[in-house]
Amino acid sequence: ASAVTEYDTIAAISTPPGEGAISIVRLSGDQAVEIAQKVFKGKDLTKVESHTINYGHIVDPVDGSLVDEVMVSVMLAPKTFTREDVVEINTHGGIVATNKVLQLLIGSGARMAEPGEFTKRAFLNGRIDLTQAESVMDLIRAKTDKAMQVAVNQLDGNLNHLITNLRQEILDSLAQVEVNIDYPEYDTEQLTTKMLLEKAKLVSKNIDSLLKTADSGEILQHGLATAIVGKPNVGKSSLLNRLLDEDKAIVTDVAGTTRDIVEQYVNIDGVPLKLIDTAGVRDTNDKVEKIGVERSKKALKDADLVIVVLDSSRELESDDIQLLEATSGKHRIIIFNKNDLVPVITPETVKQINKDDTILQTSAITNEGIEKIKQTIGHIFNSGIEDSSNNVIITSARQAGLLRQAKENLNDVISGIEAGMPIDLVQIDMTSCWDTLGEITGESYPDELITQLFSQFCLGK
Ligand code: GDP
Ligand code: ZN
Repeated sequence: ASAVTEYDTIAAISTPPGEGAISIVRLSGDQAVEIAQKVFKGKDLTKVESHTINYGHIVDPVDGSLVDEVMVSVMLAPKTFTREDVVEINTHGGIVATNKVLQLLIGSGARMAEPGEFTKRAFLNGRIDLTQAESVMDLIRAKTDKAMQVAVNQLDGNLNHLITNLRQEILDSLAQVEVNIDYPEYDTEQLTTKMLLEKAKLVSKNIDSLLKTADSGEILQHGLATAIVGKPNVGKSSLLNRLLDEDKAIVTDVAGTTRDIVEQYVNIDGVPLKLIDTAGVRDTNDKVEKIGVERSKKALKDADLVIVVLDSSRELESDDIQLLEATSGKHRIIIFNKNDLVPVITPETVKQINKDDTILQTSAITNEGIEKIKQTIGHIFNSGIEDSSNNVIITSARQAGLLRQAKENLNDVISGIEAGMPIDLVQIDMTSCWDTLGEITGESYPDELITQLFSQFCLGK
């Protein structure tokens, strides 16, 4: 079925999975109120005013058995998140009762919502643009205050504004070209190309500064991809635990875009680190060292930051040297751990150290240098994200890809003009740029894109 024609009533549990004091089951669509009413005992929901909360009970319509005591919010279109009629049932009976409520709603005519389908409807019904839809996703996944702030900004439509303005610039210039083609007697060809060239350069410059924020966006979004490497027994796990325990940091498993991929995050002083290839890092049987040097090398490829741990109380071995060599082109922190013991190696004695490496001497036993590790990580993180102008940060790979494509279009415009190409050919590239930018906000979008994009959301959003 086409994405744009599904207007049946959908239902899902909108609160995160797991045990909580209350859960919310959400319905959206033409029949939302009628379907809720079928399983509800209390006021007649079809008669209550919009945007009211109503007390009552969920009752199985088949056998009349009581399922849960609930509060039901009725919100009629169009002033709702999806712009459709929305009903939210606040249950408080735990997972079993909440699932039962959902089942009863499905049995009464609702369809189980696909992941992200509520947000997709908000988009299809014109309530939000694509950048805003993506920021809803960002909000759900935000791991730091800063990430949250950027997402909220985007939800406000800041990126949308910026893109819309750029498209307007392009449109203006194209209109100008049209006028000049229609009135060739004025011999304005030269003026027109000059104007187009300037516009193309201006828009290109704006795209550049947006693209510069994309790396920060990636880091904000997914955390600083960090690999902690070192041969067995140098103290990787001990250091990590120090870093974590000091902060009572939360280790969370966050499902990636594919269901089976689980990424592990730790939060160090508000900086989200995405730990690479250290699954089970806190397990007692300590999988960190089992990963070994070979696999560490593979993990390095994806890392924004590498923490190389050495044991300063022992001679360097070939594994240490290999890791130092393999990480030499990377943004890295080299840690001389166990400095509570008599040192055998020092930063001065290690030849594989570069001038711009950050070197820290630590002890996981006495806690020395741990604070310094945190500061360094915080500094690397912040230097990555603070250069964003007016808080518009490109947070999705999709947006970044389209911006790069738009920039290609503009490069074609610029090189075309410089090569003396006829104006109507240049015009085609300028128009492509306008289209490409339109895809960012969803002015022009293919169906599959929409389906793919929204399927990345969690269920119930
Ligand atoms: P990993 O194999 O690199 O993860 O190393 P572990 O964290 O499991 O530590 C290996 C051993 O070294 C353990 O017995 C730790 O207690 C010890 N250890 C770790 N860090 C230090 C340190 O800074 N000083 C001393 N003296 N021992 C340490
Ligand atoms: Zn370990």
